[in-house]
Amino acid sequence: MKERVLITDLAKFSVNDGPGFRTNVFLKGCPLKCEWCHNPETIADNPELYWKKRLCVQCGACLEACPKDAINPPIEPELSSSEGSTYQKINRAKCDNCMKCVDVCIYDALEVVGKAMSISEIMDEVEQDKPFYITSGGGMTVSGGEPTAHPAFALALLKEAKKRGIHTCIDTNGCCDFNVLKEMAEYSDIVLFDLKHLDSAKHLAKTGIRNDLVLKNLELLCGTDSDIWIRIPVVPGFNDSFEFHTQASLYIASLGGHVKRVDLIPFHNYCQNKYAWLDKDWSYRETDAIDPSFLEIYADLYRQHGLVTTVGGSGFENIGTAKLSQEVSGIQGH
Ligand code: SF4
Ligand code: SF4
Repeated sequence: MKERVLITDLAKFSVNDGPGFRTNVFLKGCPLKCEWCHNPETIADNPELYWKKRLCVQCGACLEACPKDAINPPIEPELSSSEGSTYQKINRAKCDNCMKCVDVCIYDALEVVGKAMSISEIMDEVEQDKPFYITSGGGMTVSGGEPTAHPAFALALLKEAKKRGIHTCIDTNGCCDFNVLKEMAEYSDIVLFDLKHLDSAKHLAKTGIRNDLVLKNLELLCGTDSDIWIRIPVVPGFNDSFEFHTQASLYIASLGGHVKRVDLIPFHNYCQNKYAWLDKDWSYRETDAIDPSFLEIYADLYRQHGLVTTVGGSGFENIGTAKLSQEVSGIQGH
C-alpha cells in the first residue's frame, strides 16, 4: 500500500455528503471524465499547478525560476486581467509540474493542487472535529476523485476511522472491481453511490466510460447489508428530463430496501475558477445553474415509489417531510 496519497482538500463542516457535519477527504484521481465535473482538480492523479490570474502582478519571478522554459513572459497586469484576455502564464505543453515556480511567487498566484498525506495525518485532522460529529450525527466522508481508485489506502483509512469510533461514508462512482467496493462498504456506514445515466451510450459520451459496470456494481451492492444513498447529479441536456427521472425512479425502486435515500444534486457553475486556474476549457462554462426548486417535481417521482428523496443532498434534511409526502400520496414503498 502507498504510504501517502494526494489529497486536494480536507473540507470541514460539509453538510451535503452524508448525515450531519462531515469532513470530506478528497482523494486525487478518477477513472471517469465527467464533462460537468465540479472538482476538475481531482481527476488527474498527479499534482497540478494553479495559476490565479487575479493575484498575479506580473513580477516575472517565476520566469526566472522555471527550468523548462514553461513560463510566458510577463505582460502589463491590466492586460492579463482584462475581460476576455487569453494570456496564460503557464505553457502547459512544456510544464512538467516540478513546482519550482511556486516557491518564488510571493503573491500566492501559483499553487500546487494535491498534497501527499498519510493516514495518520488525515486522521489527525479528521479527529479534531469529533465533537461536532457526535452532536450532529456526522463523520468522515472519503470522496474524490474516486476512493476506489486508491483501494488499499482508502480501505485502511476507513478502518482507522472506524477504530477511532468515527462514522464513515464513501462517495463512489461505482466504476471499480466489485470486491474492492464491497470491502470498503463493509467499513462504511453509508455508501453514497453516484448514478449518472441509465443509457450506456449517453453515459459514455459525457463521462468517457459506459455504465454497465456501474449498474452491475450497484445491483450487487444492493444484495449486501450496506446502506446506500444514491446520488444523481442533474445536468442540463444530459439527464434533466422528466423521461429520465421517470425511468430512474422505477429502476431505483426495483433495487430493494438497502437504498435508504436518493439525492438529486443540481448542476451549478461555482467551479468556473478551478477550470480557469488549471487553464482547462469547460464545455459547461456558459450553462446556467439549475434552480433547485425546479427539481422538486422530479423528486416527487422518486417519493411516489416510497424513496426518501432530497434535492441538494443536505445531511440535515428533514426526511420527515419526504415520509409524510409518501403517506399523503398513499403509494406504498417497495
Ligand atoms: S511569480 Fe507569481 S506574481 Fe510573479 S509573475 Fe509569476 S505568478 Fe505572477
Ligand atoms: S511547475 Fe516547473 S516546469 Fe511548470 S511552470 Fe513551474 S517551474 Fe516551470
